[in-house]
Amino acid sequence: MTSLIRVTLFWALFSVAAYALLPQSVHAQSVQSPAEFLGYELGERFTRHHQVIDYFNHVAERSELVQLEPYGTTYEGRPLLTAYVASPENMDRLDAIRQTNLSIAGLSEDQETDNSNPVIVWLSYNVHGNESVSTEAAMKTIYTLIDPDNSEAQSWLSNTVIIIDPCLNPDGRDRYVNWYNRTVGAFPNVHGIAREHNEPWPGGRTNHYYFDLNRDWAWMTQKEVNERVAHYNTWMPHIHVDFHEQGVNSPYFFAPAAEPYHEAITPWQRQFQEMIGRNHARYFDQNGWLYFTKQVFDLLYPGYGDTWPTYNGAIGMTYEQAGSGRAGLGIITQEGDTLTLKDRIEHHYMSGLSTIEVSSENREGVVNEFREFFERARTNPEGPYKGYVIKGSAHRDKRNALASHLSKQGITYGYAQERQSANGYSYSTGASSRFSIEPGDMLISAYQPKSTLLRVLFDPNPSLSDSLTYDITSWAMPYIYGVEAYASTSAFTVPLNSQPQESNPKPETRNPEQIYAYLARWESFNDARFLADLLKHNIKVRYAEKAFSLNGHSYAPGTLIITRTGNEQLKEQFDQRVVDLAEKHDRHLTPASTGFVDSGPDFGSGDVHYIEPTRTAVLLSDPVYVYPSGEIWHYLDQQLEYPSTVFNARSFDVEDLDDIDVLILPSGSYSSVLTENTLEELVSWVRQGGRLIALENAANFFVGRDGFRLTRKTNVVKTDTLAQKQRRFADRSRLGASDNVTGAIFKVNLDTTHPLAFGYRSPYYTLKRTSTVFDLLENDNDWNVGVIPDEGHLSGYVGSLIEEAIDPGLVIGIQSMGRGDVVYITESPLFRAFWYNGRLLVANAMFFRQ
Ligand SMILES: [Zn+2]
Repeated sequence: MTSLIRVTLFWALFSVAAYALLPQSVHAQSVQSPAEFLGYELGERFTRHHQVIDYFNHVAERSELVQLEPYGTTYEGRPLLTAYVASPENMDRLDAIRQTNLSIAGLSEDQETDNSNPVIVWLSYNVHGNESVSTEAAMKTIYTLIDPDNSEAQSWLSNTVIIIDPCLNPDGRDRYVNWYNRTVGAFPNVHGIAREHNEPWPGGRTNHYYFDLNRDWAWMTQKEVNERVAHYNTWMPHIHVDFHEQGVNSPYFFAPAAEPYHEAITPWQRQFQEMIGRNHARYFDQNGWLYFTKQVFDLLYPGYGDTWPTYNGAIGMTYEQAGSGRAGLGIITQEGDTLTLKDRIEHHYMSGLSTIEVSSENREGVVNEFREFFERARTNPEGPYKGYVIKGSAHRDKRNALASHLSKQGITYGYAQERQSANGYSYSTGASSRFSIEPGDMLISAYQPKSTLLRVLFDPNPSLSDSLTYDITSWAMPYIYGVEAYASTSAFTVPLNSQPQESNPKPETRNPEQIYAYLARWESFNDARFLADLLKHNIKVRYAEKAFSLNGHSYAPGTLIITRTGNEQLKEQFDQRVVDLAEKHDRHLTPASTGFVDSGPDFGSGDVHYIEPTRTAVLLSDPVYVYPSGEIWHYLDQQLEYPSTVFNARSFDVEDLDDIDVLILPSGSYSSVLTENTLEELVSWVRQGGRLIALENAANFFVGRDGFRLTRKTNVVKTDTLAQKQRRFADRSRLGASDNVTGAIFKVNLDTTHPLAFGYRSPYYTLKRTSTVFDLLENDNDWNVGVIPDEGHLSGYVGSLIEEAIDPGLVIGIQSMGRGDVVYITESPLFRAFWYNGRLLVANAMFFRQ
């Protein structure tokens, strides 16, 4: 007995040592299958994210074919990682493969002529958290790929590097999975009416801040996407698959994608989508599985996990399995079949492997075409424009924000050193003209590896081969950032200089007793962040409602005045604190030794207002719409960084507003929350001095309600009766598009003398996403601060029926109500957090009250 124990112990010790010594292939045998590791068969239940991470760690520890690379964490702190799957030979030179690939794309210093580099396939799972089959399929896929007995997989690995991201949205996935696991009973119910098939608000699709991460690749406003794009750019894969799920009655969608395709997509990219689709079809046909291609999922908007990789030289694709947050472990489809989680796993598993197979079989062609894509980009970029010019007149903060966005996307730029003239398209007028490039203008040449992405991001008016698209039809960067810009038809050379990032000099504070006040300009969102920080630090701040001049400098309305008076409680710390915060936010402070100005109101005038530290509240949760809720929540938390109170809309009680100055209502459907009684109480809260900010559909809700003066244009959708009678059944979905606005850009003229528009230069550009148009306010006590003028439509698709009815239309208005007021902002200024130039507007509405 004793000796037996000793022998066992010996073997145990030996195996520990052997773990480090023996060839790794032996260990491959010891990799557990997902079922062995998790204790249940895949498809029997949903796997929590930490278990998925544990499994990938297990695989990486035991298999020489797998290495993990963490690339970030989510807002809720869950890890993000990719697994590399490669042959032992390729794994040994993994970083060399990566660098060779970057040099093939011209994205590194080296010139690479080696044609034998592996094809790189990147598989992205579960970007929508409740489309939760994907991560389960990822576990099955990686286990198959490392199986030493699977000779087919091993042959793929000889020329293919596979990058698996098992879960792009861990916070959303766990929100779904934890909800489902605690909701399902002992007997999963396959009837769609059961509770387990009906997720509560906000559902698991989005990330922590309710953002759709499959709309954010081009903008990187969300932590997860920001980290992922940085990681992606270090690899630049050739093939990228984004795994999704769709409605339970739509069996399966794979490439090729639907029209419209952006014009920048190459014939080869179209062709290879087709090849991949045909390979999938072979397997799906063999199994008798239903599927469709070329419908619904188009390739236009650049924020998707298929278009964005495509504009980055890859073959980018979306695969959609029937299921999503409704399907649970099993659900009856309209045909009466039961769609199970196991079925769903099989389909995504099959399309994943089929993708790797086609890629491996066509390695040479794929890599060569990838090389050519980037060679063309550098030497002979397609499209009408050879570069883009951001005028130096644009505000420094806006230009810097745009520049940082471009850098993160891997797009290079420089600054003009001499004057030259060029021809091109003016984003502000929508016309082509001659213009001049001045020293200091920001220059972005189309002759660079990321040229296609650049072209799409600056496309003044994306051409639509089909009016039916899944998303917005316009997004040009100059409108987003509110900068004057041109798309140039003539090429120019870009000096390799970077912007003189002149930071603001620190003010002189040696003799604080001589400083009466500090002045800070109000010109960009960074100024609002600075103000928010001052208020958080209990510093009293005022703002000038009218322009003034002092010591030969003129100051626009909105200028912040931070007087020593009122901040006595800070004693000698006052100057240091103000100066430190200005430095933190890179703001220019001007010390003033007097409150007696050269022209305009003095600092003690009634035209200089004290800014109360705004106590802000937001209504979130059902029936407020999910995405707009997230946009305002993310804005307050992550962009403005200003603490606020979030109320649950369902249990909202106006009495809770006793200590609140500003209530923000994001877009939503309010009739069940703001009932007649509640509305009356809300009006009386406003009358006592509250400010109500109603965004988008929240503004729409107040049309026709007692006390609210907003009205809607009723003539917007006109019916052409003859056309109506002659319409064809087959055209029915397209007819709907003629009274539609799917996201188009309009000019908005601003009254910059109103505090709501302080810091802006007119015009502002808005993304218009609905066909609802509002009249101008008519009461003498109300102000139309932002109005779509005649000919205001600049870019994007607008249905012919509403094009003419749209102007003038109210976008930003304010009506007084007793001692308070109601601000209407009818189109989101915070759309997907990327509409940068709208951010200041919300800060104005929060802080500038009188
Ligand atoms: Zn999806």
